[in-house]
This record gives sequence, C-alpha cells and structure tokens, in this order.
Amino acid sequence: MFKSLSPLPPDPLLALIDLHRADPRPRKVDLGVGVYRDERGETPVMQAVKKAEQRLWQEQRTKSYLGPGGDLAFFARLRDLVLGADHPAVVAGRVAGVQTPGGTGALRLAADLVRRSASDARIFVGTPSWPNHVPIMATAGIDCRTHPYFDVAMQSVLVDVMVAALGEGRANDAVLLHGCCHNPAGADLDAQGWARVEKALSARGLVPVIDLAYHGLGDGLEQDLAPARGIAARLPRAILCVSCSKNFALYRDRVGAILVVTESAEEARVVQSVLESAARVLWSMPPDHGAAAARLVLEDEELRAEWRAELDTMRARIAGLRQALAAAGRAAGLKLDAIARQKGMFSTLPLTPAAVEGLRRDHAIYAAPSGRINVAGLTLEDVAPVVEALGRCAG
Ligand code: PMP
Repeated sequence: MFKSLSPLPPDPLLALIDLHRADPRPRKVDLGVGVYRDERGETPVMQAVKKAEQRLWQEQRTKSYLGPGGDLAFFARLRDLVLGADHPAVVAGRVAGVQTPGGTGALRLAADLVRRSASDARIFVGTPSWPNHVPIMATAGIDCRTHPYFDVAMQSVLVDVMVAALGEGRANDAVLLHGCCHNPAGADLDAQGWARVEKALSARGLVPVIDLAYHGLGDGLEQDLAPARGIAARLPRAILCVSCSKNFALYRDRVGAILVVTESAEEARVVQSVLESAARVLWSMPPDHGAAAARLVLEDEELRAEWRAELDTMRARIAGLRQALAAAGRAAGLKLDAIARQKGMFSTLPLTPAAVEGLRRDHAIYAAPSGRINVAGLTLEDVAPVVEALGRCAG
C-alpha cells in the first residue's frame, strides 16, 4: 500500500531545533523556533493560567465529552475578548463559531467553510506568509492565489501590489490577512493600508480570513485587534481564526477558535451548523483542558487582570529588544531600524542562505533559512554579539 509514497522533506524549522539541541557550544542563540521566550530563555506557563489550572484540578468533576463546539462559555468569552462584547455583530447575534485545536484548527475549519460555500473557491495569500497557510488551504481543496506582500530588501509592505492582486478577485473569493504582528515579516498594514484593502474587499465582495495569532504582542491587545474589529464591523462577512498559543502560552494544549461574522442571525445559525458538522468530521471535538483554563482566566476579574499584566510584560520585552537591536544596528552601521517599527515576535532580515549558515556555523546563532528571526529568542545580553555577528555575516 505505501509503495507509491515518496518521503516528504521535513519542516526546515524542525530540523533547526535538532541542530540547535545538538550544538555543544555554551553560548548559542535560538532565533528559529516560533515561541515566546522570557529574559531567561524560557517559555513558562503564565501564572494566571497556572492558577486556573489549579482550580480546574480541584473543581473539575468530569472529563466526559462536551461537543464539536467545545466549551461554549470559553467560546463566548474569547469572542467577546477578540471582537468586544459591544461589537455590532456580537450584539446582533451574527457571530457563529466554535472552539478549535489552536489557530491551525481554526484555519482548517475556515478552509472547509469557504470550500463548502463554493466548490470553485479561491483564496488570496500574500507572500511570505506562515508556511502552513497555503498547505492548509490547498489540502481543503481551495485554489491558492499568491501575491507578494513584503519586500525583504526594502523592509516594506507592498500595499499597491496587494490591492492590485485583490482587484482580480471574484465575489466570494477569500483573502487571508494577518490581523497583527505579521509572521514572518513583522510588518503590518498601516491604517491607510488597511483602509485600501478594506475598500478592495468591499468593492469585489471578497471575504477576509483574518489570522489572529499574536494579538497582545504588538502595540497592546486592543490596538492589535482594532483592524480586525473594524473590518468585521463594516463588512457583511468576515472569518477570524484565533490562536491562544502565544498570548496564553498554551501552545501544546491546542487552544483556539474560529469566529465567523455573518450578514444575519439566520445566516449565523446555518454557518454554526456547518462548522459543527465540519469539526465533527475532523476531530470530533477539540481538546478541553487549555480552553477550560483560559475560560477561568477570562471569567475571573483578578486572573484576567493578572493575565493582561503578564501579556503586557511579554509585549514590553519584545518592544525593548526591538529598540535595542535597532540602536545596536545604528551604532554598528547596519540598517536595522525597520526592526524597531515592526511588531510581534518576528522580523525577516535580508539575509542570504549563506549568511544564515554563517551565523549558525561561526556564531552559534540559529535563524530560519528564510532570514526570519524570532526577536523573543534574544536576551538583552545577546543583542550586541548578535548585531556584531550580523555585521560579519551579512556584510
Ligand atoms: N497563524 C500564524 C501566523 C502562526 O504563526 C501560527 C503558529 N505559529 C498559527 C497561525 C497557528 O498556531 P497554533 O499553534 O495555535 O495552531
């Protein structure tokens, strides 16, 4: 049966993890893997989440099945956190959705929903993007149309190119957008860019699929969510794919949700039934533990405030590192200023594969082959040696 299969290449980032682990050099810097790290290089369980888990352990009486929608109270809390309880679509009962296994599960359900809505469905994806975006969509049978989004050499977002690409869209085509903290570019649309994209969506009847995986790690939770909220308020339809992996640090517990803003409450009921049915086929129901913990955090005022403060500490650490990198770059005559303007964990530097290899071989600095670096993988102490190594390898 398996004779017809040929081996597929491993994810280059996963290969990097193995190389990093096997590297005996005492001072090594991992900028490859996409997880937040604190100043000690750790990815800890957040205190608010830990307290919620303790409560769960004491109070949870059953682990019996929930349903394909997952924890409905978690979903409602997350919906209100992301859109705002007073969002017009929330107030009008026009938001369908379910809890999903991480943002990946939400994206997969989004793909299924788009595909079930139209068999000739297409989705526009800017490049570079998270490497899983196109495979998720393509696996669900959607025709992926890519267009350039980011000029790495210039460190600028190609809004004109993007708007021109969307001009080719047909009614009900989907458009994948990064809600904030673009992975891997770090460069988001500015207010004017968002307005132009929204106009293009509206003019052509395109449906945004907004990936929200890093809200809270850019300018702050409300600021990071503002573009998605605005689009979901002004367009008749929008799909939001939410991950709790980074901002609740729940990575392996697989927590997320898909929120689908529809034109009417009646349409929301239909979409709800389709989402539940699609989820039932894919994973029957999502894992509960992490979502239950996140629900307790969101329900309890004290835990919620503690979580917000922890998230803010993470955000401030990343912003501080970005400033420090840019300042050290200026001192060394390197052009790293864009890093300070960019948001979230990632930036993509104009590094050749040979430069990336040189960083690893000669300086024990691990970056993705594409030149993407995880800024949160640095400590403040690492900044000077990393900038010096960049000067040697990139120069
Ligand atoms: N979208 C983007 C842009 C991501 O970077 C990631 C994960 N790194 C995801 C979605 C999926 O995250 P999750 O682990 O919650 O599935």
